[in-house]
Amino acid sequence: MLSPRQLFFENLAQTSFSPIAIEIESASGCWLHSPDGKSFFDLIAGVSVSNIGHNNPRVVKAVKDQINKHMHLMVYGEFIQKPQVRLAELLTRYLPDNLNSVFYTNSGSESVEGAVKLSRRYTGRHEVISFNNAYHGSTIGALSIMGNEEMKRAFRPLMPSVSFLEFNRVDDLDAITSATACVIIEPVQGEAGVILPEDGFLQQLRDKCTQTGTLLIFDEIQTGFGRTGKMFAMDLYEVVPDVALFAKGFGGGMPLGAFVSSREIMSSLCNDPVLGHITTFGGHPVSCTAGLASLEFIIEEKLERNAINNGRRFKQLLDHNLIKDVRGEGLLMSVELESAEMVKKVISIALKKGVVTDWFLFNENCIRISPPLIITGEETEFACRILQESMDEV
Ligand code: PLP
Repeated sequence: MLSPRQLFFENLAQTSFSPIAIEIESASGCWLHSPDGKSFFDLIAGVSVSNIGHNNPRVVKAVKDQINKHMHLMVYGEFIQKPQVRLAELLTRYLPDNLNSVFYTNSGSESVEGAVKLSRRYTGRHEVISFNNAYHGSTIGALSIMGNEEMKRAFRPLMPSVSFLEFNRVDDLDAITSATACVIIEPVQGEAGVILPEDGFLQQLRDKCTQTGTLLIFDEIQTGFGRTGKMFAMDLYEVVPDVALFAKGFGGGMPLGAFVSSREIMSSLCNDPVLGHITTFGGHPVSCTAGLASLEFIIEEKLERNAINNGRRFKQLLDHNLIKDVRGEGLLMSVELESAEMVKKVISIALKKGVVTDWFLFNENCIRISPPLIITGEETEFACRILQESMDEV
């Protein structure tokens, strides 16, 4: 019998030649446990997913209760299912008034695909604008609006009528015209290495979209659910989009996403053609149950505040001569070093010392800090100590 490690390489398709490849058998809070008795502190939370911590008991109980009632019943949008409607009600209560209609998906990429279709259908236009260094997912539509040529080259031809602007460059916004169906943007660019919007940039983008009748789509897939110190990044920057995208932290550890817009805009998907956008598993009742328990937990425990406090603590404690910059909002953070080589070494030493982190897809000079939002002050100190000891050894 082959070991799980051998089977991993034998039977699982790989995404790179250098996966982390540690076996994890169980997880709780901010910790991952391997079968050989080792524990690892999780500084990435499955890439901004496990905001409420791994195996949050409240979510586990809710999931078990729901499984005992029912799992999948029917394709999305036909039967009335309590987990879906309750979650949509709570989510929209925490969103601006115009974002009151939730279309569930299974993942971030699917939320992106749905939103691009929605904007084309609603505006009757086809041009899409995105930003350099944007990451919106790996499906063909999401790849088409990815702001990184290297990642796209091998997969062309992609979706036509897409153009790219420079994040934070106000002059570029003139490219948005009455022919633009939508502009899609991460309010904080994640995979670019946590690039924050400059003062007023998102508001000027909002104004330009309003003037031209273009739908503004905020990809909050990585920034959502307390990660940046507010429930959503749109609250942090006080700019309201026409469509918001969620996934990752939405499902409390289960696969769940959504694109959310106004009832008026969303209703355009009901006709011409009827059933023009459908999904079998989007809004799976078990995922929605987990999402509801997770959102209630975030609200009751005020995890945004903990993200702000521990984000500050990281910034205070991370002080090393290899560090060029520590930036971010809340617990969506990036630690910039001199080179990608240095980052890789620090990550590998930290892993040996029991801390899991990684770099960013479009910025290999940066170390990712996006732990579960339940992280304690002591855990933050521990993570900083290990990172700095790892930098000492580079
Ligand atoms: N959008 C952003 C900002 C992301 O960070 C990601 C994933 O990392 C996606 C979209 C794609 O989400 P998924 O991997 O669930 O398809």
